[in-house]
Amino acid sequence: MPFKTMSLSDPLVQGILASGYTAPTEIQSRAIPLVTAGKDIIACAQTGTGKTAAFVLPILDRLQRQGNTKKKVIKALILTPTRELTVQIDKAVSGYGRFLPVRTAAVYGGVKIHGQLKALNRGVDIVIATPGRLIDHMQRKSIDFSHIEVLVLDEADRMLDMGFIRDVKKIIAALPEKRQTLLFSATISREVQTLSADIMKTPEKIQIGRQNPVETVTQHIYPVQKERKMDLLLHLLRQQQMTSVLVFSRTKHGADKIRRRLKNADIASVAIHSGRTQAQRLQAMDGFRSGQFQVMVATDIAARGINILGISHVVNYDVPAYAEDYIHRIGRTGRAAATGDAVTFVCPDEMKYLRKIESFIGKKFTLAAVRDLTTSQAPAPKSDPNPGHKRPMKNKKRKFYRNNPKRPARKKTGAL
Ligand code: AMP
Repeated sequence: MPFKTMSLSDPLVQGILASGYTAPTEIQSRAIPLVTAGKDIIACAQTGTGKTAAFVLPILDRLQRQGNTKKKVIKALILTPTRELTVQIDKAVSGYGRFLPVRTAAVYGGVKIHGQLKALNRGVDIVIATPGRLIDHMQRKSIDFSHIEVLVLDEADRMLDMGFIRDVKKIIAALPEKRQTLLFSATISREVQTLSADIMKTPEKIQIGRQNPVETVTQHIYPVQKERKMDLLLHLLRQQQMTSVLVFSRTKHGADKIRRRLKNADIASVAIHSGRTQAQRLQAMDGFRSGQFQVMVATDIAARGINILGISHVVNYDVPAYAEDYIHRIGRTGRAAATGDAVTFVCPDEMKYLRKIESFIGKKFTLAAVRDLTTSQAPAPKSDPNPGHKRPMKNKKRKFYRNNPKRPARKKTGAL
């Protein structure tokens, strides 16, 4: 369905064409008709699917149809987790709405508040904001929510992961009850479901994107005791052609710990998670992309939107608790038709998550891996210099590995 047949107003269609878009993406063709019909929606879609236009275009269309009133009042509020996303959406609104008399304000922290106060005071139609700074404005009474008709929560899962739940709830409580609510999230976690149940009325659900692993990724399951995971990671890093490795940890704390231990083992690595500043994250990503770091350790949320070509391996150091995250994680390799390997370490406690992934992708992992796991056969490095010890003898081991850079390749267990 071309944009022209979506009953969007003419100047808006002109703006879309001027942005270089010829046809809507899947999320756009599914969401736009529902949003223009006034429905609440929950859309499960990642960055890169065209989700921004899926909510921005119907908002601009609504404003255009209402006509250009003399006094500007805020009709739409878009909440996002980060400053970067706020700026990006603001630019998208200006691009699509280039032939419309629309005014926006981007409201985010880390910059002086003065410019934002001026913009709000002058009057705007759309506010795009991060929760923290928006609360600042609420406290200063510099923002009027009373005319808001549409609320968008973009990257809702990331917003909750970053600890914004209380702020988000506080903001929503201050909005008119009669409004349309659109929620976009890469994953629909339990937290997101709970939030949506509180703030939306019988939303329509849209699911976009892969639910199956891409075929260019070979999956391997390694049963291993929890305390041997680092040994196994070091072993794999030393003996395989693992040039560019993205390691996933379920928690920030875990990611930092893995990174510290890799550093102790002289492996060039870096960690990204929501506890690190945006500048640190960008620096980490650049370093990983350029090959300065062999390994990047990441949490699920921090890795969202990572678009780095040439990642040779994804390692699930922890099995993700949500099956959707497994798909997103392993999809970081095998991109642009290149091949990649995804390696998952499974300790007995994590079997329940593995089962969830199996039922999600509709495929059983090999029995060999499960048998190994239930008999607790951790695939310890053959030449592990320190068998049976829970804590590795770091220096001795490091020296051992340095002196044995080319050991014969170990056969992988449980390749799918
Ligand atoms: P998003 O998922 O909103 O971050 O969009 C990802 C990228 O897709 C951005 O560079 C958009 O400019 C681009 N994009 C969005 N919609 C379309 C479309 N209908 N046709 C071509 N590119 C698009």
